[in-house]
Amino acid sequence: MILHDPQTAGLVPLMRAHCAVVVWRCHVGVDVPNDIVRGAWDFLRPYVSQADAYIFSCDGFVWDGLDRERLAIIAPSIDPFAVKNYSLSDADVASILRAGGIEDNDTKGDAVFRARDGGTGVVTHRSDVTESTRITPGTPLVVQVSRWDRLKDPTGVLQGFTEDIAGQSTAHLVLAGPDVSHVSDDPEGLQVLEEMRAAWRGLPAALAARVHLATLQMDDPEENAVMVNALQRRATVVVQKSLAEGFGLTVAEAMWKARPVVASALGGICDQIEDGVSGILIDPHDLRAFGSAVVRLLSDATAASAMGQAAQERVRAHFLGSRHLRQYLDLLTQLLHD
Ligand code: UDP
Repeated sequence: MILHDPQTAGLVPLMRAHCAVVVWRCHVGVDVPNDIVRGAWDFLRPYVSQADAYIFSCDGFVWDGLDRERLAIIAPSIDPFAVKNYSLSDADVASILRAGGIEDNDTKGDAVFRARDGGTGVVTHRSDVTESTRITPGTPLVVQVSRWDRLKDPTGVLQGFTEDIAGQSTAHLVLAGPDVSHVSDDPEGLQVLEEMRAAWRGLPAALAARVHLATLQMDDPEENAVMVNALQRRATVVVQKSLAEGFGLTVAEAMWKARPVVASALGGICDQIEDGVSGILIDPHDLRAFGSAVVRLLSDATAASAMGQAAQERVRAHFLGSRHLRQYLDLLTQLLHD
């Protein structure tokens, strides 16, 4: 039995009474625990410590007071064959972004893609984009794809772009996230999106023309996934300026697409990016460092391309499902033989 995340901790003793082997897997963590965090660990530890093994995503997230003999560190991974990650040609990317309402280009006809079941999907939903000009082919793009959440720091990205990056490049900024208008259990998402729209309205016209807030439709998950895929591939630079992050799947996704990534030196992002080689790590509170890293990549296509290639190799070596599966097999084999 594999139980996931703190919500299930109370089930560990119960399942232990009924199953041969119970593994508890934690996907979340904090870089610097405070008293509240330690209080939560103290509350949960009596349950979790009864598991045969516990898995954390990275070493830095392991709680005090757990038996290290039963600990495994297994990072998340991405599926290179998923609709979100499989290879798309430049023509596919252009067609999907046009049909999805992100870019104006001269592609024609239906934007088709290979669905998970092997059938054919068609992009039929247009994203809702807050903008005053359209993105066209050739426009360099700085892209962040995230939920509308303050911990993803969309405000900081906007500020870094308008105060620093915009003046030193011709790039546009795309902040893309899910359409939250119909998601009743995420009132904060809508609130954050509205704050971003208000901030956009407050920009001088010349800057507003270079910022695009895109909400991607959520009615069809595969269509949403292929839009994320196309947008990440279309990006000149991908950013993930989170203020806290468990792993940061968007980082691995962009690296797999050989994009140069500028991301916060936090949590699992530090395991993914080797600073200066397979991406650039920044202090998320240092807007200057963020801006200059992005400008450096925008203005040096050769360095950006080399970094993107190194990023793809890094994901190939460490963050695909094959590595993940092998680690699970090793752990379970060991537990079943104990
Ligand atoms: N994502 C998506 N559609 C969106 C925005 C995000 O599919 O409109 C995906 C993104 O591609 C990634 C996941 O949501 O796979 C977010 O995972 P991550 O670890 O980056 O952050 P979390 O949201 O779990 O904090």
